Amino acid sequence: MAVRNTNPGTAARQPVVALKPKDFQGEIHPDWCPGCGDFGVLKSLQKACAELGLQPHQVLTVSGIGCSSNLPGFFNGYGMHTLHGRALAVATGAQLANHDLTVVVTGGDGDGYGIGGNHFLHTARRNVDVTYLVMNNQIYGLTTGQVSPTSSRDMKTKSTPFGSVELPVNPLTSAIMSGATFVARAFSGDGAHLTDLVKKGIQHKGFALIDVFSPCVTFNHDNTYKFFKPRIRKLEEEGHDPGDWKSACEKAMLWGDTIYIGLFLQKEEPSLDQLEPVLEKGGPLAHRPLGLSSEQAQKLISRMM
Ligand code: SF4
Repeated sequence: MAVRNTNPGTAARQPVVALKPKDFQGEIHPDWCPGCGDFGVLKSLQKACAELGLQPHQVLTVSGIGCSSNLPGFFNGYGMHTLHGRALAVATGAQLANHDLTVVVTGGDGDGYGIGGNHFLHTARRNVDVTYLVMNNQIYGLTTGQVSPTSSRDMKTKSTPFGSVELPVNPLTSAIMSGATFVARAFSGDGAHLTDLVKKGIQHKGFALIDVFSPCVTFNHDNTYKFFKPRIRKLEEEGHDPGDWKSACEKAMLWGDTIYIGLFLQKEEPSLDQLEPVLEKGGPLAHRPLGLSSEQAQKLISRMM
């Protein structure tokens, strides 16, 4: 299985200082509600980056809008807080401009599967080398509790007081059908398992979706930690083969007394940056000479500011 180099450009240099998860903590303290599942996701990402031997300047986090999309502000690395639903589009541009970066996209179900649903399908289809961490709480949290694309049918929310009449999106089968090469699901209440999947997702060369059940303790009173704990079963403990497409689809569709988490599907396909002819030689675009004098570059930048 092809694995991406998570420490590019450092092989010939002196070994870099090994960092701890706390070295990936941003200066701003998260303002999430106490008990919010997003804390577990942030912690796992910080732990995964430290365990993979990454340095903050090698990691870019990109987000859209929503509670979970505030994550780049709480993480020590490069970060971009972009437009609602547009994080994957921005991340695609950043990854192609500098394919040496480890690009992690973070956001919620409303941002990613609703407003950004179009970008989700096309980023999977293009196999852009980013890790997409979706904090799926099955509700719009930041706007105080409206139905989201992953809310269950019959769920009562502020915008559906008689219960939602819509069927929810299944992000896993949507990603699989769109050609995603790494499709996983985790639970923010199981940090060790989540960290392991984040590490695998970052190491995977290509688009890696990790849908994380990340309970919104304030507005979703149906899909709580108590709801998930007795239902969750790990694919790894059931001998699931991530190369088995049919089994991945079947297990991803189960929703009831058993809900699977783990690595559903992984396959090897060239990523977009490996296929782009202009990126074939000469290294990342961001490191190539511009062919402009510094005055010309300054002028150009000021015109765009
Ligand atoms: Fe988390 Fe929900 Fe609070 Fe937002 S509203 S921070 S999703 S618990």
